[in-house]
Amino acid sequence: MSVFTLDLHFQNTLGAIASYLVETDIGPVLIESGPESTYPQLERGLREKGYFPEDIQYVFLTHIHFDHAGAAWKLAEKGAKIVVHPLGAPHLMSPEKLWNSAAQIYGDEMENLWGKMEAIPKASIQIPEDGEIVNVGNHAFQAIFTPGHAAHHIAWKYKSILFTGDVAGVKIGKGPVVPPCPPPDIHVENWVESIEKIRKINPQRLYLTHFGIVDDVENHLSELEQMLMDWAAWIRIPFEADEDQATVIPRFKAYAKQQLIDKACDADQLKVYEYANPSWISVAGLYRYWKLKSQHRI
Ligand SMILES: [Zn+2]
Repeated sequence: MSVFTLDLHFQNTLGAIASYLVETDIGPVLIESGPESTYPQLERGLREKGYFPEDIQYVFLTHIHFDHAGAAWKLAEKGAKIVVHPLGAPHLMSPEKLWNSAAQIYGDEMENLWGKMEAIPKASIQIPEDGEIVNVGNHAFQAIFTPGHAAHHIAWKYKSILFTGDVAGVKIGKGPVVPPCPPPDIHVENWVESIEKIRKINPQRLYLTHFGIVDDVENHLSELEQMLMDWAAWIRIPFEADEDQATVIPRFKAYAKQQLIDKACDADQLKVYEYANPSWISVAGLYRYWKLKSQHRI
């Protein structure tokens, strides 16, 4: 099976963000484009495999967060079809709102982290339904809608493997699995259901965007579920005490860091975890989840 991991060297760090290259009989496709800031590295990765960006037939996006989809518009410009969830597509066609809401989180760091984002024309976008199979030559990619991390999340099934974006969490090297919980649409119950959906599909391997191949699928998913419940329960306490997020962030950061240290992560690994999933961002995401839940809006 010709699936290659392209390490995008995000912020000059190895093993933080991947794009996956799959060769088909009618040309290569990508799962995830990575951010625009790492586009030159994506080009280098493709070249090493003998391809140019204009060779890419399709880009299957798991969701539209910048670290997964930020460079999709550049590949669309080169002729690739961008396959994205119906709730994500409008934001790729007019990315201003997505950009501005992310800018509230990342501030001055936006461009350094993510580069630029431009609109993708409607004609370059393909929107699947849940369970739909997109055929690329003789190769079938099945859209598995998997909300929880993002409402518009798709895991892509290809043969016996599953490209999981963020729905199967983040795992760096032999470190623990952690659930990235950025705003705005963390939904713990939906996420747990999506994990169950993955169990039923019973893939042989998971391909995580952050980062790499997981063989021990059941243990991985159980650990993810446990950590998600743990983080949600941890944040619930300061949320219900009406504590300011700014005072909670340093405490949560220390808590999440200790969890990594307890699982034998060294300093280098801690750094990669922070690039792949900055822990402070999960405070805002889980605060929002508990707030909407307390208002019976989700
Ligand atoms: Zn994400």
